[in-house]
Amino acid sequence: MDEPKDYVSARSVAFARAFPMIASLSIRVEVRREGFTQPKPEVWSYSLENPPDEYIRCPRSPKDCKKGGWPITTLIREMVAQRETHRQVQGSCEGYEPMARRSGRPCKAYFKADIEIRYNE
Ligand SMILES: [Zn+2]
Repeated sequence: MDEPKDYVSARSVAFARAFPMIASLSIRVEVRREGFTQPKPEVWSYSLENPPDEYIRCPRSPKDCKKGGWPITTLIREMVAQRETHRQVQGSCEGYEPMARRSGRPCKAYFKADIEIRYNE
């Protein structure tokens, strides 16, 4: 991901403040914008130096998905509360696809994460 360096380091500082007990973090997320049957997902990686935002952003365009994203930080908080070191978890984007004259249908983007955390003693 090409993001401005300042943005990445500000995020890193904020993450370290929120989770001072985390010594190392490794997250690998398979992102399937066409739904969970998509054969070749994109893979996004995160670490303490490049932590995720509160939500992993939806890979679909804002036109195709409203209020999308996947709340990865909620999972990290749960893991930290239990001192879990490894979790594999998957789920759908929380957004919806706007449709003319109807309420939207759920966004089909699908995420599958492998999260590893090491803790400070
Ligand atoms: Zn979405």
